Amino acid sequence: MVGPIGDSAEEIKGLQRCIADLVSVLTLPAIWTGGEPHQIVSTLLDVLLGMLHLDFVYGRLNDPTGETPIEMVRVSHSRKLTANPQEIGNLLRNWLGNDPQKWPAVARNPMGDSEISIVPLPLGLQGDVGLIVAGSERTEFPRQTERLLLTVAANQAAIGLQEARLRTEQQRLASELDQRVARRTIELAAVNEGLRREVAERRRAEEALREREESFRLIVDGIARLVAMMTAKGEVELVNRQVLDYFGLTIEDLKDWSIGGVVHSGDLPSVVSAWTHSIETGSPYDIDHRLRRADGVYRWFHARGLPLLDSDEKIVRWYVLLTDIDDRRRAEEAQKRSEAFLTEGQHLSRTGSFSWRVATDDIVWSEQMYRIFEFGQDVPVTFERICTRVHPEDVPSLNALNDRVRVEGGDFEFEHRLLMPDRSVKYLHMVAHGTQDPEGRLEYIGAVQDVTQRRASEEELGKARLELTRVARITTLGTMTASIAHEVNQPLSGIITNAGTCLRMLSADPPDVDGARETARRTIRDGNRASDVINRLRALFSKKDAAAESVDLNEATKEVIALSVSELQRNRVIPVLELAEDLPLVTGDRVQLQQVIINLLRNASDAMSAVNDRPRQLVIRTERDEGDHVRLTMQDEGVGLDPQAMDKLFEAFYTTKNDGMGIGLSVSRSIIESHSGRLWATTNNGPGATFSFSIPRRSGRSTSADRDRETRTRAATDAL
Ligand code: ADP
Repeated sequence: MVGPIGDSAEEIKGLQRCIADLVSVLTLPAIWTGGEPHQIVSTLLDVLLGMLHLDFVYGRLNDPTGETPIEMVRVSHSRKLTANPQEIGNLLRNWLGNDPQKWPAVARNPMGDSEISIVPLPLGLQGDVGLIVAGSERTEFPRQTERLLLTVAANQAAIGLQEARLRTEQQRLASELDQRVARRTIELAAVNEGLRREVAERRRAEEALREREESFRLIVDGIARLVAMMTAKGEVELVNRQVLDYFGLTIEDLKDWSIGGVVHSGDLPSVVSAWTHSIETGSPYDIDHRLRRADGVYRWFHARGLPLLDSDEKIVRWYVLLTDIDDRRRAEEAQKRSEAFLTEGQHLSRTGSFSWRVATDDIVWSEQMYRIFEFGQDVPVTFERICTRVHPEDVPSLNALNDRVRVEGGDFEFEHRLLMPDRSVKYLHMVAHGTQDPEGRLEYIGAVQDVTQRRASEEELGKARLELTRVARITTLGTMTASIAHEVNQPLSGIITNAGTCLRMLSADPPDVDGARETARRTIRDGNRASDVINRLRALFSKKDAAAESVDLNEATKEVIALSVSELQRNRVIPVLELAEDLPLVTGDRVQLQQVIINLLRNASDAMSAVNDRPRQLVIRTERDEGDHVRLTMQDEGVGLDPQAMDKLFEAFYTTKNDGMGIGLSVSRSIIESHSGRLWATTNNGPGATFSFSIPRRSGRSTSADRDRETRTRAATDAL
């Protein structure tokens, strides 16, 4: 310690220096303004080292973010420091402990080779900003003024550092903010760009959609069908023009299509149920039903609806196409009806139809064919199969026909029998027309008629006709009996006369009187018996009176033709009827007149049987004749008449036929004459003959009883 005056002067000096240093220290914040924390610490260390003549000064600046702190150290020029600031920091911590708060205000400890006093000065309230450690080898260190200076400097630095930190923080925040703003701006710009693109995209999409809708509308309106777009729930959303035109309704009216009679009430339940099912399951909607047109007429439509699905397979909407099938359906119905008619017709007429492609032997049969052959429809038809049914006797001729028509083409007609499994026989009549299939190959289309019944009735008819002929002959025999009786009676008279003569001769000597008498008696008895028989027959046949009724000769002729048609066909005779429309009725016996017509018809047919060089045409004509008569003419193209035989034609038993009886014409003439008419024959200018009869409308005809009487009178006259 120095003396008071000297001390005072020193003290004053010291104080002055201290004040000057304090001022310097207080000006430091001005220097630090805008500086970085490490610059502040660095400046502070430099100032303190120089100002207080320290041996070293150490500064540590904590990093608020917990990063490695910044450490610095300054040493006086006289010292050589080899350690780096971190090592010094570690040394201090090792020496004084980890917590600078607990460090002594001044510590002395050997450092290197000398003792040194150190003063730790925390920066910030709890030393949170950092730490300054000043060290000097001077023993008086730190003097009071030095401690003051150090404290003030540390405070100033702490403030400066806080500010710097704040500033740095502010700058960091500002820059961060700037960066954020910049980033956000970039993001927003990107978003903006995206939005702009999206908007442009959407606009383009809208434009494309509009164009698509436009073209869709054009297409949809251009479709000649009814098109509707429905919601997923099945409500009408959009329709084409055709829909509005068809129904004559607005889209609003159509929204609830299930009411108001748009759909035919008969179809509505099935339509609603089909729609509901499709909407629930997404399965296509497919149904035919009737829809009411604007004029109230219902027409058939085929409705087909398909769903549009999104990526989740959910129905977005329905597209429904309605096709007018009314005409087609009607045509189908008409076709079905006509097919049914045809089938029914085939069934009723027992006629089946077939087609036969010759090249491939493809045979197609109608249902009725299967029925006629009694085959199941499941097995294909082949010739082999057909032959299993054909009557064995007819198989060779069928095969021959088959061989012939395969090469010839044209038309053919054939009759054959079937032998059915139950041994019954069927008669078939087949006609076929040769044509060409689509490939130009020979194909036959034909019909087969089961004529068994007709055959049976023909046979019956034949029998009836025979019977008729027989009856007619018998009738004629009535006429003939007179002459037969006359013919027979004469020889009988002779027998009787001879027998009488015989008796007389036997009466002479020496006769075998008894034997001769007996013989003669027998002769007489037999002769009388024969005579009786003839008389009884005559009596029998002359009993029936001919009828006298009104007869339409046209009808009677047509009936005869109908009865004879199969015979005419068999003989290939073509009847040509020229029947007068205004022909008057005649009075007579219908059956007898028909018998005449049948006789003439048969003769004409027989006369043409050998004709092969011309059509076997037979003209049958009826007409009014002179004198209130009606005439029937039969003009054939047959062999014609021999002029020599013209007189004999009508004689009984004149015939030129092997199997003829020669009584047809004589009977016919007697019938016509009994009708007060005339029957005659002429030769034609061309080939053939013409037979005609002419009868008065009212014949006033005699009955057989009259004729009988006449005959008997004539016989009596002849006997005389
Ligand atoms: P049948 O027919 O049994 O011979 P008809 O009395 O009917 O008996 O005929 C007598 C004959 O008259 C026939 O055998 C035939 O020579 C001849 N005749 C009949 N009609 C014709 C005719 N249309 N053409 C040619 N000759 C005929």
